[in-house]
Amino acid sequence: MKHTMKLWDKSFQAIRQGYKTIELRLNDEKRRQLQIGDVLAFQNTTTKDTLECVVLDKRIFPSFKELYEVYDKISLGYQEYEMAQYEDMWEYYSKEKIEAYGALAIHLCKLENITPSLLIDYGICPTCFNKEYHSCLYGDISNQLLYADDKLECFFVGNPRSKGHTIISTKTHYKDMLEAPKEIISYVYCLAQKVMVAMKEVFSCESVYLCTMCDGPMNHFHIQLIPRYKEEQRGSRNFIKERKNYILDEEKLKKMRKLLEENIDELSGM
Ligand SMILES: [Zn+2]
Repeated sequence: MKHTMKLWDKSFQAIRQGYKTIELRLNDEKRRQLQIGDVLAFQNTTTKDTLECVVLDKRIFPSFKELYEVYDKISLGYQEYEMAQYEDMWEYYSKEKIEAYGALAIHLCKLENITPSLLIDYGICPTCFNKEYHSCLYGDISNQLLYADDKLECFFVGNPRSKGHTIISTKTHYKDMLEAPKEIISYVYCLAQKVMVAMKEVFSCESVYLCTMCDGPMNHFHIQLIPRYKEEQRGSRNFIKERKNYILDEEKLKKMRKLLEENIDELSGM
């Protein structure tokens, strides 16, 4: 979910410059709705500029006194020469309100600095995040997309380990294969077989390797199909071949799409 928050110029600039990573608020009803993985669009009260940040974590304290004991002043937005005192927050919130609601520390990262592995570390699914926030992580994949329906999607990887490297990913969120229902797993693997057949024909690869890892505090169930070519040695090193940039080969993309479209009905009935 995306939220809008107003922010004083000093705090706004401190977040923009990157040293302020903790935003302080009253833990009132509005802030309680904030979830880890949400996006905050800060609006500068002076310049009206906006800055988008991701909520990586949130911690609640009885008051700002306890909060100030935990964080270093720079991360709260103070300069090295400034005194950081929790009483400073009285300028924004009354003592009564602080006592009634408590204090909230919002751990932030600027949206432009977000990476899939950072999100995974904080228990946020990068695939679902990417879908919710306009493909901000992986960009537009319309030139990579091979097949999609209401259950899954299949596309060429943006940073392939070999030409034709493909991912099949579920539309619904499952952390890994352990969480996915049997019907979905069957569907994914039946499509994988179809993709492998198409890959061998279109890319003339000798073999296709299959793996699924989905490790870390959070991930999104997907399987990877990595072609091995004649000139490459057999073996597990094919799983860790150096990643390259995806180069669009329109002819191969069209051929793959056509082969997958053919007889897809037998799968979609699953
Ligand atoms: Zn997900």
